[in-house]
Amino acid sequence: RAFNFSAGPAAIPTEVLERAQKELLNWNNYGCSVMELGHRTPDFQGILDNTEANFRKLLKIPANYKVLFMHGSASHQFSMVPMNFLAPGETANYLEMDHWSKMCIKEAKRFNDIHVEQGVRTNSDGQLELIPEDEWKLDEKGKYLHFTSNETIVGIQFQDDPNRFAGKLVSDMCSDILSRPIDIEKYALIYAGAQKNIGPSGMTVVIVREDLFESFQTERVPALFQYPYVSEKGSMPNTPPSFGIYFAGLVFEWLLERGGVEEMHRQNLEKANLLYDFVDQSDFYHSPVAKGSRSFMNVAIQMKDRSKEEQFLAEAREQHLIALKGHKTFGGLRASIYNAMTLDGVKTLIRFMERFERS
Ligand code: PLP
Repeated sequence: RAFNFSAGPAAIPTEVLERAQKELLNWNNYGCSVMELGHRTPDFQGILDNTEANFRKLLKIPANYKVLFMHGSASHQFSMVPMNFLAPGETANYLEMDHWSKMCIKEAKRFNDIHVEQGVRTNSDGQLELIPEDEWKLDEKGKYLHFTSNETIVGIQFQDDPNRFAGKLVSDMCSDILSRPIDIEKYALIYAGAQKNIGPSGMTVVIVREDLFESFQTERVPALFQYPYVSEKGSMPNTPPSFGIYFAGLVFEWLLERGGVEEMHRQNLEKANLLYDFVDQSDFYHSPVAKGSRSFMNVAIQMKDRSKEEQFLAEAREQHLIALKGHKTFGGLRASIYNAMTLDGVKTLIRFMERFERS
């Protein structure tokens, strides 16, 4: 297998794929695949319960928060959050950073008049940086503050949970969930599509504080889009993304066997620091993001001579280093180094970058 630096759908640990392959035709001696297993059977309920229990263990989710495994993508949550939280005339704060927060803001504006605050600026060196939270001008009447914890395309990441609006934070954690410990109690709701650190696309995980349910909107909100309804039905108001839930369970077990989220965080910082240190000392590559705001999941890299990008990507591909092209809206290179990327993968990339620079 190649070292896969795709931003998403992203690399999955080989051990997990091998286990899924082994269990594909005959899960647990049941005589069929999980894909073929009725979702109302006690066996599937066991898979779901186990997946949830391990997710709770990994992120230390308190009992007053519900975990929902939902169909669809993070983009569905862009609409579901304002639909559930905001009555007509109510407002919320949104931090605008890059592509994904902008998409989210666009959806929220369909429902309510929201307050948008800049979360990112360009510093005097021309690098992107997060605006410190004491400079945010927020509408105190806002029911929540929404932010994107890791902007996948440009590679900007909150290194820690913000303090402003603690208890009323809502976050899109698609591209960094399970990459570091989270102080869950600062959040009203967290959501993440599966396809980066959890498993195949098509499923989204939601963590939501239960006491908020009574204030959520139900008028004109389709039942399948109401968090309380999905919760009441135990994530199964209809046929759930059953294979995705099973697969997430395999990834969660893999994480627990390797020391959980704390250990992943240590490894993720080690991998990212190696790569950023290499880029910083080079005259050939540079980082478009300032220290302190850099993502340890998606490392954006630019080449001083951008005409060499295509050659870089083609030669990298030959060396089994795949999916290093930056997003079309930002260009350059991008190495997505989620939990599944090994230290060996990052070191192999650095050696290739060194050779390419020299040649
Ligand atoms: N939010 C972030 C931070 C993302 O990285 C992505 C996709 O890459 C999305 C939202 C959108 O996810 P989806 O395509 O599952 O709607």
